[in-house]
Parts: sequence; structure tokens; C-alpha cells
Amino acid sequence: MNRTCRIPGCSTAVASGFSPYCAGHRANLRRHGEPEQKAITKAQVRPYQTLVRARIAKNPHNPAWTALETRWRALVDHAEHVIAEYERGRAGSQVERLVAREIVKLGNTTEPRIVVEVTMAMVMLREFRPCCFRSDHAFWVQLGRRVRGLSDLNFGERYVHATGKVKRCYRELSPRAAVVLGRWLAETLGIGGLYLARLDRAEHEKQNAEQRDLHKALAQLS
Ligand SMILES: [Zn+2]
Repeated sequence: MNRTCRIPGCSTAVASGFSPYCAGHRANLRRHGEPEQKAITKAQVRPYQTLVRARIAKNPHNPAWTALETRWRALVDHAEHVIAEYERGRAGSQVERLVAREIVKLGNTTEPRIVVEVTMAMVMLREFRPCCFRSDHAFWVQLGRRVRGLSDLNFGERYVHATGKVKRCYRELSPRAAVVLGRWLAETLGIGGLYLARLDRAEHEKQNAEQRDLHKALAQLS
């Protein structure tokens, strides 16, 4: 029997007998935890990171930036604790341990300020373009992945038999681990991004109002 993909608007035939989705939507589900979620690229985050940096440059002495960095460092400490407990023989969640390792890795390789910037930029992206994320869950996965991508320790090497060469390949974090990482980041640093988004929105509204006033004034010239 021929079936088509369950996603509305997708008329691709389903090849696998067990999945309700076509190959493309099934791949999205496997990679992102949602059949309709697309990967958020570095290029999509960059303009928001620029906004974050501009705001920091405008308020270099505001204590918020170091407070957010301190929060991140506390999360790294917590992650180190999770790993130490496990090594001492305490049982714990495997996903949490995996995420803790990622956080320690980031803590060792990446400037805290960059982690803070990218997390806030992702929160701003979500505020300004909510359609980029299918759900909270999908947002956390993308946030976890983008921040993890800041560390360049996620490449492995793979021998390709056909060419006889060793190929560098990116080791992606599973959606289950990415969702936990993203959630921890959002809970720790997300508030910064929410404030910045609110501030930007208020500034745009003020500019628009000023422009309207100017137009009105010009229209009344005699
Ligand atoms: Zn489909």
C-alpha cells in the first residue's frame, strides 16, 4: 500500500513501513527531535549576535555581563560535580552525564563571554522570528547544538575505505542530550536575551513613532 507523509502539505511517499513520515521528515525527526524543524545555521544567529555585541559595547560597565558569565561558570562547576560524583561511583542519569561532559568541554575551550553572547542571540532569534522553532523542545535542541558548536572538539576521524583516506567528521549531539543542554543554557542565561529583545523592540517602536511624527509635521507644512 502506498502512503504519503503525515506532515500536512508533504505529499512524498513513505518508504519505511513503520514511520508515518517521508525520508526527509524522518531525518528531521531523528536529528532535531521534530519532523518539521530545520537546523539553525550560524549565519541565522550572526545578526543577533551582532545586536548583542552592540548592546554590550554600548553598556561596557553594566554588571549584567559579568553576572551572566558567573552564572555560566557556576553551570560548568555543577557539570564538573556531576562527573566527579559519577567517578566516585554514584549512579546518575546518563544523559545528564553526557551533557555535563559537553559543558566541561565548553568551559575548557570557549570564552564564557562567547557562550553568553550566543545563548542571548539564540533567545533573540526566537523572540524576533518565532516561526524558526516548532516548539520549546525544538528550540532547546537548536540552542544546545549551536552553543556546543562553539567548541572545536567535536570532530572525529573516520577512515574511508573507498578512498583510503582519513576524513574529519562532525560528531553531532543526540537530540536527547541537546535538549537538556539547551534547556540548562536557557534557564541559566536566557533571561539576558529576553531583556535585550525587549529593549530592541522598544527602540524600534520609538523610532517608528518619531518617523510618524515627522511625516505628520511635514504633511502640515503650508
Ligand atoms: Zn514528509
